[in-house]
Amino acid sequence: MTAGKRKPDCIFCRVAAGELPSTKVFETETVLAFQDVNPGAPQHILVIPKDHIADSIADLDLTDSGIAQTWADLLAVAQEVAGSKSEFADGWRFVTNVGENGGQSVFHLHLHLLAGRRLAWPPG
Ligand code: 5GP
Ligand code: ZN
Repeated sequence: MTAGKRKPDCIFCRVAAGELPSTKVFETETVLAFQDVNPGAPQHILVIPKDHIADSIADLDLTDSGIAQTWADLLAVAQEVAGSKSEFADGWRFVTNVGENGGQSVFHLHLHLLAGRRLAWPPG
């Protein structure tokens, strides 16, 4: 577990700290993957940085020298999860929602991994 850059009252900061229960799928020192509580597909996994590094990709600080590593860490966990579950074998989707029109409801950077059925495109 990282030292923890947190935002007050952030649900995913609390999940990362173990203060709220979650069904963990995989974790590294900096990243946690866990099941979405309201799945939109047979497999619906959220991948988050344990630190509150941004509310969404819209406010990621690209001048931060650590940001490339953070992003690589998130992608590595996405690949690991997808590669380890048979439901991902026929394809999957990686989504990050931004803001109201994007359908974002939790303002802690996170990736959705969806799999296990044919996913419609474009999304609704
Ligand atoms: P967003 O709408 O911000 O793109 O995605 C947030 C996701 O977090 C939603 O799919 C929602 O179901 C999920 N979610 C919200 N609160 C919790 C929680 O406390 N635990 C878990 N596991 N998922 C949550
Ligand atoms: Zn947070």
